[in-house]
Amino acid sequence: MPRSATMRGRYAPSPTGDLHVGNARTALVAWLAARAAGGSFVLRVEDLDPPRVVAGAEEQTIDDLRWLGLDWDEGPDVGGPHSPYRQSERSRLYRQALRTLGAAGRIYACTCSRSELRGLLSAPHGPGTEGPPYPGTCRDKGIPVEIDVDADARVRRPSLRFRVAEHERVKFRDAVAGDVEQDVSADVGDFIVRRSDGLFTYQLAATVDDVAMGINQVVRGADLLHSTPRQILVLKVLKAAVPEYGHVPLVLSSSGDRLAKRTRPVSIRQLRFGGFAPERVVGAMAHALGLVDRAAPVAARDLVDTFRWKKIGTEPWTLSRDAFSM
Ligand code: GLU
Ligand code: ZN
Repeated sequence: MPRSATMRGRYAPSPTGDLHVGNARTALVAWLAARAAGGSFVLRVEDLDPPRVVAGAEEQTIDDLRWLGLDWDEGPDVGGPHSPYRQSERSRLYRQALRTLGAAGRIYACTCSRSELRGLLSAPHGPGTEGPPYPGTCRDKGIPVEIDVDADARVRRPSLRFRVAEHERVKFRDAVAGDVEQDVSADVGDFIVRRSDGLFTYQLAATVDDVAMGINQVVRGADLLHSTPRQILVLKVLKAAVPEYGHVPLVLSSSGDRLAKRTRPVSIRQLRFGGFAPERVVGAMAHALGLVDRAAPVAARDLVDTFRWKKIGTEPWTLSRDAFSM
């Protein structure tokens, strides 16, 4: 299939541990969606938070993704016109974006401490596990906004927050979840774009990178569905187009827990060591996604022609003990 110049998808792993089955399934869908559209595919490493980065995880992730049969046109290992492809090397762009947001009057400095914010825990919680919405304590305090600072965990400075307009509702259509709508001011409130230790947040960095890298198809895990409205607000201030979104249902362990990198996950590395062929792993993932009728070994590239978003269900996949035995 000829590559269309228009579609640009990406997979954006955080190198905080081994790639698990949930991450891999999301990567498979991201890759299939881009390739089925004849588009290009970008690998971006989200190593924003140095203490959480695990040495060797980037290399292992790349190796695991290639083992699964995925490839990319741009990425940290192959280069490309939007280099660098590691967020830790892209601070200049994030600072530039903060300046744009600042000039539009959309950021302010906040000196609330974590314990002050924790005192709000009795308030109703926002979506996900992010706690209650920020009440806007520092909104109108006029604390000076400094943008040119370096990340240094030893120096505490004000965090920077994005100012959400009152009752700012965001609507978008997700390729899996359908129509999604959120009142960001009520559910989340003004959200942090740079932390008090100087590190840029995921919400800012991922959005800025998607714009800078010309991404118009964002595929990621369903745990990030409720981040999308915030990112759309940032996109609007940056005057950037809103991409297409597809949030892939999560994978749960056989006990029904969410797979997380810290909770004894089923990693691709373990499956490789266990002697499973990549076609089996891909076949089981594709079957659980609804992309194929039978659980049978299949190569990723053989799923491209029949890929359709509408085949993908919204339910999470609970891994059974024999999920990869076929
Ligand atoms: N780095 C995020 C993760 O590994 C994904 C972010 C995104 O795709 O927007 O969960
Ligand atoms: Zn504050």
